Amino acid sequence: MIIVMKKGAGQAELAAVEAKIIELGYAPHIIYGETRNVIGAVGEEHGKEKLQILQSMPGVENVVPILKPYKLASLEVQPTPSAVEIVPGLVIGGKEFVVVGGPCSVESREQICETAVAVKEAGARLLRGGAYKPRTSPYSFQGMEEEGLKLLAEAREITGLPIVTEVVNPRDVELVARYADVMQVGARNTQNFALLKLLGQLDKPILLKRGMATTIQEFLMSAEYVLSEGNRRVILCERGIRTFETATRNTLDISAVPVLKQQTHLPVMIDPSHATGHASLIAPMSYAAAAAGADGLLVEVHPCPEKAASDGPQSLRPADFHAMMKKLREFVKVAERTMAD
Ligand code: PEP
Ligand code: MN
Repeated sequence: MIIVMKKGAGQAELAAVEAKIIELGYAPHIIYGETRNVIGAVGEEHGKEKLQILQSMPGVENVVPILKPYKLASLEVQPTPSAVEIVPGLVIGGKEFVVVGGPCSVESREQICETAVAVKEAGARLLRGGAYKPRTSPYSFQGMEEEGLKLLAEAREITGLPIVTEVVNPRDVELVARYADVMQVGARNTQNFALLKLLGQLDKPILLKRGMATTIQEFLMSAEYVLSEGNRRVILCERGIRTFETATRNTLDISAVPVLKQQTHLPVMIDPSHATGHASLIAPMSYAAAAAGADGLLVEVHPCPEKAASDGPQSLRPADFHAMMKKLREFVKVAERTMAD
């Protein structure tokens, strides 16, 4: 249920409603608005009618059901876009179109530091790199693990770029959180609910990728798992879905951007590397992402893609990334967004 408070209702009235929601067995999530505040009361669907009693409390304007199965992720609860703060001065979901660049996997100090400097130079605002890799084959490179996290931290030290890195296993959440600025949930873990619940208890932004066979509604329900645990800083990332087409690694569902924007206040990014599987398709899909209204990109960049331990064919060389970023600025401008120099 959504409890809409009256304009001018005070803190004491808000607190009383909040306490009553808890007493009724629901979890209150307050959304502070410009003119009025609303409280999302989430919990068991069965029996939620009893929340109607809140209607008679001082300061309450209205009590309305949330129609969507995802509650906190919905525009019903929060009609204004969420601007997710990564570090002071850097927000995803605001006016700025934010690009994350870096290799699929962290491979060595030279590789990650060289890439970090290059992507920063081109205008990327965050560095990506996997230290734990969810590989299709158990015989493929699985990542440098904590050693990789330490190298990412070194690259952050050198460039000042915050780092995005994937956590694959609930067992590693605490360790990865010690190094990461943004915790990535990969496509293979979109519906790993135990992992999502743990991430919901962190005070850290979560970059949640869409699973390769996950509907938009299921994707939003996964976001809801994180939100319902109290972590409001969720960023969605469309990275292509499985279709019959084999010319590309996946099929980029570009319409997911405006569709998601019609359903949720959460920021939406596009990963053109995993979506296509081909470096030559990254630039056009990046421009399409900006045009479609995405909040940013996650792009794989490697100093020497032919030698990459993973995903070389879908990684841009630094010079090509630089060229793509230059042209991207024009599309971003048309989309009435800004981009870092
Ligand atoms: C990645 O970002 O390197 C990755 C494994 O992506 P996805 O989970 O989208 O396949
Ligand atoms: Mn990859």
